[in-house]
Amino acid sequence: MNNNKVALVTGASRGIGASTARELAGMGFNIVINYASDETSAKEVEQEINKLCDVQTLVIKADISKEAEVKKMIDKVVLKFGRIDVVVNNAAIAIDTLFMDKTVTNFRRILDVNLIGTFLVSKYAGDFMKKAQSGVIINISSTNGIDTYYPMSLDYDASKAGVISLTHNLALEYAPYIRVNTVAPGWVKTDMNKELDQEFVDKENQKILLERFANPEEIAKVVSFLVSEEASYINDTVIRVDGGLKY
Ligand code: NAP
Repeated sequence: MNNNKVALVTGASRGIGASTARELAGMGFNIVINYASDETSAKEVEQEINKLCDVQTLVIKADISKEAEVKKMIDKVVLKFGRIDVVVNNAAIAIDTLFMDKTVTNFRRILDVNLIGTFLVSKYAGDFMKKAQSGVIINISSTNGIDTYYPMSLDYDASKAGVISLTHNLALEYAPYIRVNTVAPGWVKTDMNKELDQEFVDKENQKILLERFANPEEIAKVVSFLVSEEASYINDTVIRVDGGLKY
């Protein structure tokens, strides 16, 4: 099945982004796989999709915090496909440190990628979608942006709160043509958490009613639902996917 529609997933070389790219390809979307540095993994995701799905793929290296790179990425997508139907703003970074080791440089880098990057991709892709009078944007935030804060990641948490605010404003700006929603995962088993020690994981699991971290696919399924026509009346909202996280 190929519906000719095009979905751009930022940070799709691994983790939640890669799972989302696979899910959307399964729905028949042509997929743009964006990544920042890990070309090998991005190409692996592409190969996997091409093996399983009858869709077209395009891999684009672009640092979403850099306006010129984002602009070029959107131009490439439009040149190849002539349309953009879905954007999943998934790419993000975290640099967890003790409070006293937090630096302005790292704080700015996190805001640049997680918040400004989401803004830039939404702006340039959204501009195109608005002209087409159709589209869906999903921004990946985090429960850390709502109510589950960690001083070790206060910069990341602030960026994710910003993404929720940005989403509300984008939904207003792009109404009534583009649905814009936020997905806020709790803990997910990805590279972002690979440094966590087992003792910490065990303690966090006790705060989750389902007593475990999510698999990336469990987040991707929610994104694909929000993208689908089944969610045609869901707009400007935040969906938590956290297994019942209690603090
Ligand atoms: P991940 O495994 O660390 O993957 C991050 C992805 O983002 C990679 O594909 C990476 O590409 C890309 N990326 C990083 N900086 C980029 C940049 N400047 N420009 C373009 N791409 C960039 O992350 P994840 O855990 O799957 O997280 C995905 C999303 O879910 C993020 O928004 C994260 O904040 C959110 N989230 C995650 C969790 C969790 O527990 N894992 C919980 C809540 C929310 P390269 O590898 O090529 O650099």
